[in-house]
Amino acid sequence: MLSAEIIAIGSELLTPEKTDTNGLWLTGKLNEIGIEVKLKTIVGDDSLRLEETIKDALKRSDVVITTGGLGPTEDDITRQISARAIGRELVFHEEIVEHLRERFRAWGREMPEINKRQAYTIEGAEILPNPNGSAVGMAVGIGEKFLIILPGPPRENQPMFNDFVFQKLREKAGEIVFRKRILKVSGLGESAVDEAIAPIYSAYNNVSTSILFNKSEVEVHLTAQGANDIEADALNAEIAAKIVEKLGIAVFSTEGEEMEEVVGRLLTERSETLSVAESCTGGLISQRLTDISGSSRYFIEGVIAYANEAKTNALNVSPEIIEQNGAVSAETAEAMAKGMRARAKTNYAISITGIAGPTGGTPEKPVGTVFIGYSDEKLTKSFKIVLPGDRFLIRWRSSQAALDYLRRQILKK
Ligand code: ATP
Ligand code: MG
Repeated sequence: MLSAEIIAIGSELLTPEKTDTNGLWLTGKLNEIGIEVKLKTIVGDDSLRLEETIKDALKRSDVVITTGGLGPTEDDITRQISARAIGRELVFHEEIVEHLRERFRAWGREMPEINKRQAYTIEGAEILPNPNGSAVGMAVGIGEKFLIILPGPPRENQPMFNDFVFQKLREKAGEIVFRKRILKVSGLGESAVDEAIAPIYSAYNNVSTSILFNKSEVEVHLTAQGANDIEADALNAEIAAKIVEKLGIAVFSTEGEEMEEVVGRLLTERSETLSVAESCTGGLISQRLTDISGSSRYFIEGVIAYANEAKTNALNVSPEIIEQNGAVSAETAEAMAKGMRARAKTNYAISITGIAGPTGGTPEKPVGTVFIGYSDEKLTKSFKIVLPGDRFLIRWRSSQAALDYLRRQILKK
Protein backbone atom coordinates (compact mmCIF):
# COMPACT_ATOMS: atom_id res chain seq x y z
CA MET A 1 0.00 0.00 0.00
CA LEU A 2 1.33 3.43 -0.90
CA SER A 3 2.07 5.83 1.90
CA ALA A 4 1.49 9.54 1.70
CA GLU A 5 2.47 12.60 3.60
CA ILE A 6 0.83 16.02 3.50
CA ILE A 7 2.62 19.28 4.16
CA ALA A 8 0.47 22.35 4.80
CA ILE A 9 2.49 25.49 4.24
CA GLY A 10 1.75 28.94 5.68
CA SER A 11 2.51 30.74 8.92
CA GLU A 12 -1.17 31.60 9.39
CA LEU A 13 -1.86 27.88 9.81
CA LEU A 14 0.25 27.97 12.95
CA THR A 15 -1.97 30.59 14.58
CA PRO A 16 -5.10 29.73 16.54
CA GLU A 17 -7.23 31.48 13.90
CA LYS A 18 -6.64 29.18 10.97
CA THR A 19 -7.01 25.41 10.64
CA ASP A 20 -5.44 23.14 8.02
CA THR A 21 -8.56 21.79 6.37
CA ASN A 22 -6.71 20.93 3.16
CA GLY A 23 -5.02 18.06 4.99
CA LEU A 24 -8.38 16.61 6.04
CA TRP A 25 -9.89 16.87 2.60
CA LEU A 26 -6.86 15.38 0.87
CA THR A 27 -6.70 12.52 3.37
CA GLY A 28 -10.29 11.59 2.50
CA LYS A 29 -9.50 11.54 -1.21
CA LEU A 30 -6.31 9.52 -0.75
CA ASN A 31 -8.05 6.98 1.46
CA GLU A 32 -10.65 6.43 -1.25
CA ILE A 33 -7.95 5.05 -3.51
CA GLY A 34 -6.17 3.08 -0.84
CA ILE A 35 -3.32 5.47 -0.11
CA GLU A 36 -2.65 5.82 3.58
CA VAL A 37 -1.65 9.17 5.03
CA LYS A 38 1.10 8.46 7.54
CA LEU A 39 2.05 11.97 8.55
CA LYS A 40 0.85 15.54 8.28
CA THR A 41 3.07 18.53 8.90
CA ILE A 42 2.28 22.21 9.16
CA VAL A 43 5.23 24.45 8.31
CA GLY A 44 5.36 28.22 8.54
CA ASP A 45 6.82 30.40 5.78
CA ASP A 46 10.33 29.41 6.80
CA SER A 47 12.80 28.36 4.09
CA LEU A 48 15.06 26.13 6.15
CA ARG A 49 12.33 24.24 7.90
CA LEU A 50 10.33 23.81 4.73
CA GLU A 51 13.32 22.45 2.82
CA GLU A 52 14.10 20.01 5.61
CA THR A 53 10.46 18.91 5.81
CA ILE A 54 10.17 18.22 2.08
CA LYS A 55 13.46 16.31 2.03
CA ASP A 56 12.49 14.17 5.00
CA ALA A 57 9.01 13.53 3.62
CA LEU A 58 10.42 12.26 0.33
CA LYS A 59 12.69 9.87 2.20
CA ARG A 60 9.79 8.38 4.13
CA SER A 61 6.75 8.45 1.85
CA ASP A 62 5.76 7.43 -1.67
CA VAL A 63 3.56 10.45 -2.24
CA VAL A 64 4.18 13.90 -0.78
CA ILE A 65 1.57 16.61 -1.25
CA THR A 66 2.14 20.23 -0.31
CA THR A 67 -0.50 22.96 -0.20
CA GLY A 68 -0.02 26.71 -0.04
CA GLY A 69 2.71 29.24 -0.58
CA LEU A 70 2.39 29.45 -4.36
CA GLY A 71 1.26 33.08 -4.46
CA PRO A 72 3.30 35.89 -6.00
CA THR A 73 4.43 37.58 -2.80
CA GLU A 74 7.76 37.42 -0.99
CA ASP A 75 6.44 35.08 1.71
CA ASP A 76 5.29 32.51 -0.86
CA ILE A 77 8.35 30.27 -0.93
CA THR A 78 7.06 26.85 -1.90
CA ARG A 79 8.22 27.04 -5.50
CA GLN A 80 11.91 27.87 -4.84
CA ILE A 81 12.23 25.75 -1.73
CA SER A 82 10.74 22.59 -3.15
CA ALA A 83 13.02 22.94 -6.21
CA ARG A 84 15.99 23.33 -3.89
CA ALA A 85 14.89 20.37 -1.72
CA ILE A 86 14.99 18.02 -4.69
CA GLY A 87 18.01 19.65 -6.31
CA ARG A 88 16.34 20.90 -9.47
CA GLU A 89 16.24 24.23 -11.27
CA LEU A 90 13.22 26.46 -11.82
CA VAL A 91 12.25 27.00 -15.43
CA PHE A 92 10.53 30.15 -16.69
CA HIS A 93 7.47 29.73 -18.91
CA GLU A 94 6.55 32.64 -21.16
CA GLU A 95 3.17 31.00 -21.89
CA ILE A 96 2.22 31.08 -18.19
CA VAL A 97 3.00 34.80 -18.05
CA GLU A 98 0.86 35.35 -21.15
CA HIS A 99 -1.96 33.39 -19.58
CA LEU A 100 -1.70 35.43 -16.37
CA ARG A 101 -1.68 38.71 -18.31
CA GLU A 102 -4.87 37.56 -20.05
CA ARG A 103 -6.52 36.75 -16.75
CA PHE A 104 -5.69 40.16 -15.34
CA ARG A 105 -6.87 41.87 -18.52
CA ALA A 106 -10.16 40.01 -18.30
CA TRP A 107 -10.66 41.62 -14.88
CA GLY A 108 -9.70 44.99 -16.39
CA ARG A 109 -6.35 45.16 -14.60
CA GLU A 110 -2.68 45.13 -15.50
CA MET A 111 -0.65 42.19 -14.22
CA PRO A 112 1.72 43.32 -11.46
CA GLU A 113 5.33 42.43 -12.28
CA ILE A 114 5.67 40.24 -9.19
CA ASN A 115 3.20 37.78 -10.67
CA LYS A 116 5.96 36.74 -13.07
CA ARG A 117 7.26 34.68 -10.16
CA GLN A 118 4.31 32.37 -10.68
CA ALA A 119 5.58 31.50 -14.16
CA TYR A 120 8.46 29.46 -12.78
CA THR A 121 8.00 25.71 -12.38
CA ILE A 122 10.33 22.94 -11.34
CA GLU A 123 12.37 21.39 -14.13
CA GLY A 124 10.69 18.21 -15.34
CA ALA A 125 7.46 18.87 -13.47
CA GLU A 126 4.07 18.40 -15.02
CA ILE A 127 2.18 21.68 -14.82
CA LEU A 128 -1.27 21.45 -13.25
CA PRO A 129 -3.60 24.15 -14.60
CA ASN A 130 -5.56 26.34 -12.19
CA PRO A 131 -8.80 27.62 -13.71
CA ASN A 132 -9.75 29.19 -10.37
CA GLY A 133 -6.64 31.18 -9.52
CA SER A 134 -3.28 32.43 -10.64
CA ALA A 135 -0.92 29.78 -9.23
CA VAL A 136 -0.36 26.64 -11.30
CA GLY A 137 0.34 23.42 -9.42
CA MET A 138 3.04 20.85 -10.15
CA ALA A 139 3.42 17.08 -10.20
CA VAL A 140 7.01 15.92 -10.06
CA GLY A 141 8.11 12.33 -10.43
CA ILE A 142 11.26 11.63 -8.45
CA GLY A 143 12.27 8.05 -9.13
CA GLU A 144 9.36 5.98 -7.87
CA LYS A 145 8.09 8.84 -5.75
CA PHE A 146 5.71 11.69 -6.39
CA LEU A 147 5.81 15.26 -5.17
CA ILE A 148 2.57 17.12 -5.75
CA ILE A 149 2.51 20.87 -5.20
CA LEU A 150 -0.90 22.52 -4.87
CA PRO A 151 -2.06 26.08 -4.12
CA GLY A 152 -3.50 26.87 -0.68
CA PRO A 153 -7.09 28.02 -1.28
CA PRO A 154 -9.45 25.01 -1.16
CA ARG A 155 -11.48 26.31 -4.11
CA GLU A 156 -8.30 26.17 -6.17
CA ASN A 157 -6.61 23.01 -4.94
CA GLN A 158 -9.66 20.75 -4.74
CA PRO A 159 -10.62 20.99 -8.42
CA MET A 160 -6.94 20.77 -9.34
CA PHE A 161 -6.55 17.60 -7.31
CA ASN A 162 -9.75 16.07 -8.67
CA ASP A 163 -9.04 16.91 -12.29
CA PHE A 164 -5.29 16.37 -12.59
CA VAL A 165 -3.98 14.35 -9.66
CA PHE A 166 -6.61 11.87 -8.48
CA GLN A 167 -6.53 9.62 -11.55
CA LYS A 168 -2.74 9.66 -11.67
CA LEU A 169 -2.46 8.50 -8.08
CA ARG A 170 -5.21 5.96 -8.51
CA GLU A 171 -3.20 4.33 -11.29
CA LYS A 172 -0.06 4.44 -9.20
CA ALA A 173 -1.88 2.91 -6.23
CA GLY A 174 -3.01 0.01 -8.39
CA GLU A 175 -6.40 -1.57 -8.57
CA ILE A 176 -7.11 -1.69 -4.92
CA VAL A 177 -10.11 0.05 -3.41
CA PHE A 178 -11.22 0.72 0.13
CA ARG A 179 -14.85 0.85 1.15
CA LYS A 180 -16.23 1.96 4.48
CA ARG A 181 -19.29 0.84 6.37
CA ILE A 182 -20.52 1.99 9.77
CA LEU A 183 -22.63 -0.09 12.16
CA LYS A 184 -24.23 1.57 15.16
CA VAL A 185 -25.05 -0.16 18.41
CA SER A 186 -27.18 1.02 21.33
CA GLY A 187 -27.37 -0.16 24.91
CA LEU A 188 -23.92 -1.76 25.06
CA GLY A 189 -20.54 -0.28 25.97
CA GLU A 190 -17.46 -0.20 23.78
CA SER A 191 -15.69 -3.04 25.53
CA ALA A 192 -18.76 -5.26 25.59
CA VAL A 193 -19.18 -4.75 21.85
CA ASP A 194 -15.52 -5.45 21.22
CA GLU A 195 -15.54 -8.57 23.34
CA ALA A 196 -18.53 -9.91 21.44
CA ILE A 197 -17.38 -9.15 17.92
CA ALA A 198 -13.57 -9.40 18.04
CA PRO A 199 -13.69 -13.10 17.10
CA ILE A 200 -15.68 -12.11 14.01
CA TYR A 201 -13.59 -9.26 12.64
CA SER A 202 -10.18 -10.60 13.57
CA ALA A 203 -10.76 -13.49 11.16
CA TYR A 204 -10.52 -11.02 8.26
CA ASN A 205 -7.13 -9.56 7.49
CA ASN A 206 -8.36 -7.49 4.56
CA VAL A 207 -10.82 -5.54 6.66
CA SER A 208 -9.75 -3.07 9.30
CA THR A 209 -12.16 -2.52 12.16
CA SER A 210 -12.33 0.27 14.69
CA ILE A 211 -14.76 0.61 17.53
CA LEU A 212 -15.55 3.98 19.01
CA PHE A 213 -18.01 5.55 21.40
CA ASN A 214 -19.96 8.53 20.16
CA LYS A 215 -22.12 10.46 22.68
CA SER A 216 -24.60 7.68 23.32
CA GLU A 217 -23.80 4.84 20.99
CA VAL A 218 -21.00 2.56 19.92
CA GLU A 219 -19.90 2.73 16.30
CA VAL A 220 -18.18 -0.10 14.50
CA HIS A 221 -16.25 1.19 11.48
CA LEU A 222 -15.36 -1.39 8.87
CA THR A 223 -12.94 -0.63 6.03
CA ALA A 224 -12.67 -3.44 3.53
CA GLN A 225 -10.02 -3.77 0.83
CA GLY A 226 -10.78 -5.36 -2.48
CA ALA A 227 -9.95 -5.43 -6.16
CA ASN A 228 -13.09 -3.38 -6.84
CA ASP A 229 -16.06 -1.74 -5.08
CA ILE A 230 -18.28 -4.81 -5.42
CA GLU A 231 -15.72 -7.12 -3.83
CA ALA A 232 -14.96 -4.73 -0.97
CA ASP A 233 -18.66 -4.01 -0.34
CA ALA A 234 -19.40 -7.74 -0.25
CA LEU A 235 -16.74 -8.23 2.38
CA ASN A 236 -18.21 -5.47 4.56
CA ALA A 237 -21.69 -6.93 4.10
CA GLU A 238 -20.47 -10.37 5.18
CA ILE A 239 -18.97 -9.05 8.42
CA ALA A 240 -21.93 -6.76 9.05
CA ALA A 241 -24.32 -9.73 8.81
CA LYS A 242 -22.24 -11.72 11.29
CA ILE A 243 -22.14 -8.80 13.73
CA VAL A 244 -25.92 -8.36 13.50
CA GLU A 245 -26.38 -12.06 14.12
CA LYS A 246 -24.21 -11.78 17.23
CA LEU A 247 -25.53 -8.51 18.71
CA GLY A 248 -29.14 -8.74 17.53
CA ILE A 249 -31.53 -5.85 18.15
CA ALA A 250 -28.75 -3.78 19.76
CA VAL A 251 -27.51 -2.98 16.24
CA PHE A 252 -29.76 -0.13 15.17
CA SER A 253 -28.09 0.62 11.86
CA THR A 254 -25.74 -1.14 9.48
CA GLU A 255 -25.59 1.87 7.17
CA GLY A 256 -24.35 4.57 9.52
CA GLU A 257 -27.83 6.05 9.95
CA GLU A 258 -28.88 8.27 12.85
CA MET A 259 -31.41 6.86 15.32
CA GLU A 260 -34.09 9.30 14.12
CA GLU A 261 -33.65 8.05 10.55
CA VAL A 262 -34.02 4.45 11.65
CA VAL A 263 -37.18 5.20 13.64
CA GLY A 264 -38.53 7.20 10.69
CA ARG A 265 -37.90 4.31 8.33
CA LEU A 266 -39.63 1.80 10.63
CA LEU A 267 -42.69 4.03 10.96
CA THR A 268 -42.82 4.70 7.23
CA GLU A 269 -42.61 0.99 6.41
CA ARG A 270 -45.54 0.35 8.73
CA SER A 271 -47.53 3.47 7.84
CA GLU A 272 -47.69 4.29 11.54
CA THR A 273 -47.58 7.61 13.34
CA LEU A 274 -45.83 9.11 16.34
CA SER A 275 -46.21 12.00 18.73
CA VAL A 276 -43.80 13.16 21.42
CA ALA A 277 -44.24 14.86 24.78
CA GLU A 278 -41.06 16.38 26.14
CA SER A 279 -40.12 18.03 29.37
CA CYS A 280 -36.38 18.02 30.12
CA THR A 281 -35.33 17.60 26.47
CA GLY A 282 -37.15 20.82 25.51
CA GLY A 283 -38.08 19.70 22.00
CA LEU A 284 -34.86 17.88 21.13
CA ILE A 285 -36.61 14.66 20.12
CA SER A 286 -39.07 16.52 17.94
CA GLN A 287 -36.24 18.45 16.39
CA ARG A 288 -34.25 15.32 15.65
CA LEU A 289 -37.27 13.59 14.13
CA THR A 290 -38.16 16.58 11.96
CA ASP A 291 -34.56 16.97 10.79
CA ILE A 292 -35.39 14.05 8.51
CA SER A 293 -36.98 15.04 5.25
CA GLY A 294 -40.31 13.30 4.76
CA SER A 295 -40.96 13.07 8.51
CA SER A 296 -44.40 14.65 8.11
CA ARG A 297 -45.57 11.21 6.95
CA TYR A 298 -45.23 9.82 10.47
CA PHE A 299 -44.45 12.60 12.93
CA ILE A 300 -47.73 14.25 13.90
CA GLU A 301 -47.14 16.48 16.91
CA GLY A 302 -44.64 17.37 19.58
CA VAL A 303 -45.48 19.10 22.84
CA ILE A 304 -42.94 20.71 25.13
CA ALA A 305 -44.66 20.55 28.51
CA TYR A 306 -42.08 22.06 30.81
CA ALA A 307 -44.11 23.44 33.72
CA ASN A 308 -46.47 21.23 35.73
CA GLU A 309 -49.49 23.24 34.55
CA ALA A 310 -48.46 22.64 30.96
CA LYS A 311 -48.38 18.90 31.59
CA THR A 312 -51.91 19.18 32.91
CA ASN A 313 -53.26 21.62 30.33
CA ALA A 314 -51.67 20.21 27.20
CA LEU A 315 -51.39 16.54 28.07
CA ASN A 316 -54.20 16.06 30.56
CA VAL A 317 -51.87 14.80 33.29
CA SER A 318 -53.87 15.03 36.50
CA PRO A 319 -52.42 17.39 39.13
CA GLU A 320 -52.72 14.60 41.72
CA ILE A 321 -50.34 12.36 39.78
CA ILE A 322 -47.74 15.11 39.74
CA GLU A 323 -48.38 16.03 43.38
CA GLN A 324 -48.14 12.46 44.64
CA ASN A 325 -45.22 11.25 42.56
CA GLY A 326 -43.40 14.38 41.42
CA ALA A 327 -43.01 15.73 37.88
CA VAL A 328 -40.03 13.44 37.40
CA SER A 329 -41.58 10.03 37.96
CA ALA A 330 -42.75 6.92 36.19
CA GLU A 331 -46.39 7.86 36.79
CA THR A 332 -45.99 11.32 35.25
CA ALA A 333 -44.03 9.95 32.28
CA GLU A 334 -46.76 7.41 31.59
CA ALA A 335 -49.56 9.96 31.97
CA MET A 336 -47.69 12.27 29.57
CA ALA A 337 -47.33 9.54 26.95
CA LYS A 338 -50.95 8.49 27.29
CA GLY A 339 -52.20 12.08 27.17
CA MET A 340 -50.01 12.81 24.15
CA ARG A 341 -51.29 9.83 22.24
CA ALA A 342 -54.90 10.73 22.97
CA ARG A 343 -54.28 14.32 21.95
CA ALA A 344 -52.50 13.57 18.64
CA LYS A 345 -54.35 10.31 17.85
CA THR A 346 -51.14 8.54 16.86
CA ASN A 347 -50.14 4.88 16.93
CA TYR A 348 -47.34 5.66 19.36
CA ALA A 349 -46.43 8.38 21.79
CA ILE A 350 -43.23 8.73 23.75
CA SER A 351 -42.54 11.08 26.62
CA ILE A 352 -39.59 12.28 28.64
CA THR A 353 -39.33 13.84 32.04
CA GLY A 354 -36.08 14.12 33.95
CA ILE A 355 -33.44 16.19 35.66
CA ALA A 356 -30.84 17.46 33.22
CA GLY A 357 -28.94 19.43 35.85
CA PRO A 358 -26.62 20.84 36.92
CA THR A 359 -29.17 21.98 39.56
CA GLY A 360 -32.38 20.30 40.69
CA GLY A 361 -31.04 16.92 41.80
CA THR A 362 -32.03 15.29 45.11
CA PRO A 363 -30.64 12.21 46.90
CA GLU A 364 -33.56 10.09 45.62
CA LYS A 365 -33.54 11.64 42.17
CA PRO A 366 -30.01 12.75 41.33
CA VAL A 367 -29.11 14.78 38.25
CA GLY A 368 -29.41 12.51 35.22
CA THR A 369 -32.54 10.73 36.45
CA VAL A 370 -34.85 10.41 33.48
CA PHE A 371 -38.18 8.65 33.03
CA ILE A 372 -39.20 7.66 29.54
CA GLY A 373 -42.85 6.89 28.85
CA TYR A 374 -44.30 4.88 26.02
CA SER A 375 -47.84 4.41 24.88
CA ASP A 376 -49.43 2.48 22.03
CA GLU A 377 -52.92 1.07 21.30
CA LYS A 378 -52.47 -1.74 23.82
CA LEU A 379 -50.28 -0.55 26.64
CA THR A 380 -48.63 2.31 28.41
CA LYS A 381 -45.41 1.86 30.31
CA SER A 382 -42.24 3.59 31.33
CA PHE A 383 -38.70 3.04 32.46
CA LYS A 384 -36.15 4.91 34.45
CA ILE A 385 -32.53 5.56 33.58
CA VAL A 386 -29.83 7.50 35.34
CA LEU A 387 -27.55 9.07 32.75
CA PRO A 388 -24.03 10.42 33.21
CA GLY A 389 -22.81 13.66 31.68
CA ASP A 390 -23.42 17.39 31.66
CA ARG A 391 -26.71 19.05 30.74
CA PHE A 392 -26.06 18.76 27.01
CA LEU A 393 -25.16 15.06 27.18
CA ILE A 394 -27.97 14.13 29.55
CA ARG A 395 -30.48 15.74 27.22
CA TRP A 396 -28.92 14.11 24.16
CA ARG A 397 -28.67 10.70 25.76
CA SER A 398 -32.26 10.80 27.01
CA SER A 399 -33.49 11.67 23.53
CA GLN A 400 -31.49 8.75 22.18
CA ALA A 401 -32.77 6.37 24.87
CA ALA A 402 -36.39 7.34 24.13
CA LEU A 403 -36.01 6.87 20.38
CA ASP A 404 -34.21 3.58 20.91
CA TYR A 405 -36.93 2.38 23.27
CA LEU A 406 -39.53 3.18 20.64
CA ARG A 407 -37.46 1.39 17.99
CA ARG A 408 -37.26 -1.76 20.10
CA GLN A 409 -41.01 -1.67 20.86
CA ILE A 410 -41.85 -1.33 17.17
CA LEU A 411 -39.59 -4.23 16.25
CA LYS A 412 -40.98 -6.44 19.02
CA LYS A 413 -44.62 -5.93 18.05
P1 ATP B 1 -2.48 32.59 -3.10
O1 ATP B 1 -2.13 32.66 -4.55
O2 ATP B 1 -3.95 32.79 -2.83
O3 ATP B 1 -1.58 33.36 -2.19
P2 ATP B 1 -1.13 30.28 -2.06
O4 ATP B 1 -0.91 28.99 -2.76
O5 ATP B 1 0.04 31.15 -1.81
O6 ATP B 1 -2.29 31.01 -2.79
P3 ATP B 1 -1.58 30.61 0.66
O7 ATP B 1 -1.21 32.04 0.49
O8 ATP B 1 -0.71 29.74 1.46
O9 ATP B 1 -1.78 29.92 -0.73
O10 ATP B 1 -3.04 30.50 1.20
C1 ATP B 1 -4.09 31.27 0.63
C2 ATP B 1 -5.35 31.03 1.41
O11 ATP B 1 -5.75 29.68 1.24
C3 ATP B 1 -5.20 31.16 2.91
O12 ATP B 1 -5.42 32.43 3.40
C4 ATP B 1 -6.25 30.21 3.43
O13 ATP B 1 -7.50 30.87 3.45
C5 ATP B 1 -6.27 29.13 2.42
N1 ATP B 1 -5.42 28.03 2.85
C6 ATP B 1 -4.09 27.89 2.69
N2 ATP B 1 -3.66 26.73 3.21
C7 ATP B 1 -4.73 26.12 3.75
C8 ATP B 1 -4.93 24.90 4.45
N3 ATP B 1 -3.93 24.04 4.67
N4 ATP B 1 -6.17 24.59 4.86
C9 ATP B 1 -7.19 25.44 4.60
N5 ATP B 1 -7.07 26.60 3.95
C10 ATP B 1 -5.86 26.95 3.52
MG1 MG C 1 -0.11 33.18 -0.67
